[in-house]
Amino acid sequence: MGWSNWSGLEHASPSRVVAPTSVEGVVAAVEAARTAGTTLKPSGTGHSFTAIASPGHGMQLLPSGMTGIVSIDREALTVTAYAGTRLKALNADLERLGLSLHNMGDIAEQTLAGAISTGTHGTGRRQNGHSYAGLAAQLAGFTLVTGTGEVLTCSATENADVFDLARIGLGALGVLATVTFRVEPLFALEAVEQPMPWADFHRDFEALVDSADHVDAYWFPHTDRLLTKRNSRLASLDEIAPLSRTRAWFDDDFLQNTAFGALTAAANLAPGVIPRMNRMNASLLAARTYSDVAHRVFTTERRVVFREMEYAVPRADGLEVLRDCRRALDASDLRISFPVEIRVAPADDVPLSTAFERDSFYLAFHTHRAAEHRAYFALLEPILRAADGRPHWGKVHTQDSAALAASYRRFDEVLALRDRLDPDRVFANDYLRRVLGP
Ligand SMILES: Cc1cc2nc3c(=O)[nH]c(=O)nc-3n(C[C@H](O)[C@H](O)[C@H](O)COP(=O)(O)OP(=O)(O)OC[C@H]3O[C@@H](n4cnc5c(N)ncnc54)[C@H](O)[C@@H]3O)c2cc1C
Repeated sequence: MGWSNWSGLEHASPSRVVAPTSVEGVVAAVEAARTAGTTLKPSGTGHSFTAIASPGHGMQLLPSGMTGIVSIDREALTVTAYAGTRLKALNADLERLGLSLHNMGDIAEQTLAGAISTGTHGTGRRQNGHSYAGLAAQLAGFTLVTGTGEVLTCSATENADVFDLARIGLGALGVLATVTFRVEPLFALEAVEQPMPWADFHRDFEALVDSADHVDAYWFPHTDRLLTKRNSRLASLDEIAPLSRTRAWFDDDFLQNTAFGALTAAANLAPGVIPRMNRMNASLLAARTYSDVAHRVFTTERRVVFREMEYAVPRADGLEVLRDCRRALDASDLRISFPVEIRVAPADDVPLSTAFERDSFYLAFHTHRAAEHRAYFALLEPILRAADGRPHWGKVHTQDSAALAASYRRFDEVLALRDRLDPDRVFANDYLRRVLGP
């Protein structure tokens, strides 16, 4: 059976598929690839839109043999899990243990290794002991099997240089076997979802972001409407008031997946209706407030398959860049049915993080899988790059190593570490050759 990613954009036919169940098994897989003179690509659940996880014609290493929690340190508040664990499985296990990650993205389907390695992030207003930064910034350590078969235990005190640089490693520096997250006691979030006019959003943006711990906004192209989602921590888990099952099914399953999927699929056939449809979709998603255990508020299910490009620009320039993107879209013939997602993140210290050393404003552009995404992304990518935008490593973009080196101050150090940990390029694929070089 071949490999393909969630969005259906990338396909490959690996020569051999392995699913090791131990660190020794991972070392044996690296050695087998070296002996065969081929590559070895660790893959997650394929939720990257780029070919970053493509095994090409080499060997593919599946995550399924190494899942679950390995250990918990309740004093240090850290949890170590096998890197092939899915985020949703970790969230469920942590909930049972009365613990939680600090922050996460929109979905929980991914593997821990895959999500960490591409810089997966959520949204959050400020740095708070790393609370609101991306997943890689929440790491306290990991175990890595390098391209020469060496096993490195990495943390701030052990192999600290590798820990520092390889937290976002793009799958280019080694196979993550275990990862250790800093965690906190289980907490609840209250979500307040509200429509907002475009002009108010631009006028009140700073106040909006300051009004909650985690602010997300969705702008419906060709309209003046946004939906804002503000998630704030509740003082106690006893306060939670989840949506009724019927309301949750209607809003999150029916409206956001079934009906939205049917409408956007139909709109591909008659793009002229999209502006009117977007106005209708924006008004259907009416105001609501609910609360739940944090991971159930952070993440939702996405059953409508789409394509996505996301860039991080300096936070201070974000609104201007959004307006530039709108102007370009309005001046084009394109009709886009999916909302543009807007998030923020505090500066972090992970060298290949899109939020490295700068407060960031994220703009994410989507199209239905049956719609043509290339013209849309090609229209906006130059605007995002001109604002020194950094593309999400797992989402569609066209940048190469020369362009990316200019955006990341410590890019050369990552390349030098790659030469040290994977001198024979056991983990290489076409995507990595493009973004990191040969
Ligand atoms: C519907 C949807 C919603 C999303 N929402 C968000 C979001 O809110 N925020 C966000 O930032 N991103 C988001 N993403 C992007 C997603 O989080 C990333 O693309 C993530 O990498 C996917 O994880 P995966 O397990 O599918 O990894 P894959 O895509 O399979 O692999 C990603 C990378 O991880 C490497 N890798 C996998 N396993 C290992 C290992 N054991 N050791 C070393 N490297 C390894 C692979 O080689 C590859 O380089 C979303 C994607 C989708 C499809």
